[in-house]
Amino acid sequence: MLCDDVKRVVYFFIDGSLGEQKRHDVDEHLKLCPRCEVLVRIQRRIRRFVQSRIARMTDTAPDRLRRRLVRSIRAFNTEWSQP
Ligand SMILES: [Zn+2]
Repeated sequence: MLCDDVKRVVYFFIDGSLGEQKRHDVDEHLKLCPRCEVLVRIQRRIRRFVQSRIARMTDTAPDRLRRRLVRSIRAFNTEWSQP
């Protein structure tokens, strides 16, 4: 697995939605590649931050606002994972 491959799947890796084999590949790559390890760590932090925000909003935010937020998070993630 190459750095570009890791960048492409990092979101799903953190999400836990990556297949077992792929996850294993990423794990192996992270052991050898400090740059991707940092990438994963940052993404994880962003995800945790965003999710805590959403969790706090869930009770109060109107659906429309929540959907808009989720969309912008997706766009952010897509942009972030560009090479
Ligand atoms: Zn790498």
